[in-house]
Formats: sequence, structure tokens, C-alpha cells
Amino acid sequence: MSKVSPETVRNLLIGLIVVLSASAATLGYFLYTTTQTLETTLATTSARITELEGTLLDTQERLAIATSTNNELENNLVAEKDRNDGFADQIDKITGTVQVLDKLSKTDKELLQKYSKVYFLNEHYVPDSLSSIDKEWLYNEAIKKQIHTKVNPFLEDMLQAALDDGVKIWIVSAYRSWDEQANLKGSYSITYGSGANTFSADQGYSEHQLGTTLDFTTEGIGGGLDGFGNTKAYQWLLNNAYKYGFVLSYPENNGYYIFEPWHWRFVGEDLAKYLDKNDFNFYDVEQRKIDEYLVSIFD
Ligand SMILES: [Zn+2]
Repeated sequence: MSKVSPETVRNLLIGLIVVLSASAATLGYFLYTTTQTLETTLATTSARITELEGTLLDTQERLAIATSTNNELENNLVAEKDRNDGFADQIDKITGTVQVLDKLSKTDKELLQKYSKVYFLNEHYVPDSLSSIDKEWLYNEAIKKQIHTKVNPFLEDMLQAALDDGVKIWIVSAYRSWDEQANLKGSYSITYGSGANTFSADQGYSEHQLGTTLDFTTEGIGGGLDGFGNTKAYQWLLNNAYKYGFVLSYPENNGYYIFEPWHWRFVGEDLAKYLDKNDFNFYDVEQRKIDEYLVSIFD
């Protein structure tokens, strides 16, 4: 065995040290570069995160603005809708008013006027339309009678209802023209002298000329008017006529004329019900109040 010289050992050790040093340097370099790379990546990532954070904030802000704008638009829309609804209501109201005025303009103003000793209908006044009364309701079928066309159905309903209750009511007088009335007044004047001025012919004068007013008779009084106030028919009318729009023009103890239990005038269901409910006489109510019912007289 050859003996290893100390020099060789030294050289080997030196070689080993060089190799180890080189390895350490390589490892160090490797670690260094890796760290550098990681640091760079970290920095890039941080920057990216910051950037994303910025973008997120920006987006949130924009979303907030968009939401607020949206709310504002919604509010505006609601306000606009309210305004439109308001307009629609106003238009409806105006349309309604126009319809009422139109209806009123086509309704004969005389129909609810109060006729008195000083206020009479014009002698040329004739109702809009007259119809013949069915002879079933006439006391004397031979003498034709006429009534305002729009009152006729109310009259027929009323007389039929009375009949259904076992009460016979016949008509002895309905529409009377100025001339007929003048003749009638003449005959009363001859019979009763100046007393005729306080007699019924005067009172119903204008009301019969309207075509809305009737004189009734019933069984047991010979087709006349006298005694009508003591009949079942009169009681039936007192209890029911208002339901069909008829009122007694000159009730007992009225301040205008003598009591005329047979003389009934059509004023429309609404007004007749109002008068009945409050126990008012037509002639005692202010004309202004009465006029409120003109528009619905034939409803
Ligand atoms: Zn009469």
C-alpha cells in the first residue's frame, strides 16, 4: 500500500472546499434569484390587488350613483303617474259636469216651478211631448186624456201598484191646455161667481198645463172630486205616491189654496222622496232647493 502524502490530502481538501464553496454559491444564487422572482411576483400581485380594489371601489361608487339615479327616475315616474291620474280625475269630473249641464239644458225648467196667484205659465206653453193615457185608467173612457210622455210610465206604475193593493184610482183630469183651462174657469165663474177665484180651477191652472198633473177619483164618490179626501184611494196615495214621484200640491192646511186631495203633481222620485222624508210641502220649499232635483226628475 502506498502511503498518501499529506500534500495530496491537502489538495483533496482544497478541492473539496472549492467544490463545496461553488455549490454553496450556486445554491445561494439560486435562492437569491428565486427570492427575487417571488418578490417580483408578490409585488405584481399586490399591485394587481390594489388595482382590483380600486376598480371595485369605482364600481361600487358607480353602482351607488346608478341606484340613486334609478330611485330618482322611479320617483319621477311615480310623480308623473300621479299627475296623469290627477288629470284623468279632472277630465272625468269635467266630463261629468258637462254631461249634467247638457242633461239640464235639455230638461224643461218649468217642470219644477211653483205656480201661484202671481206666477202662471205662459199661455203658449205646451209640454215637450204628450202621450195618450191608457183608457184603463180613465174614469170616462170616452174622453181621451193626455199626459207628459215621460211621466206616463211613473203614473201607470203607481196606478197599477194601487190596483194590486185593491185600490181603484181613476183619472178625471190630466193635461189641460190654456184654452181648456180658460173655459173651465169660465164655467166655474158662472156657477160660483167670484168664489171661483179661490176654487181649485185656479190653483191647478198652470200645473195641469204642464202635463205632469192629474186629478183622481175613486169608487164611492160618483166619479167626482168631492169627498176624495175621505177615501181609501187618498190614504193610499198619501202613503205611496212619493215612491212614484208624485206629490200633493195643496195638502190640508196649506197656506196657498184650498185643500185639494185629488190633485197630484209629478216632481220626480228624488224630490218626492226628499219631501216625504222631511214632511215638507212642495210649495213651502225654496225654489233654489227644488231646482237641485230638476236634472234627475225623470231618473
Ligand atoms: Zn187639478
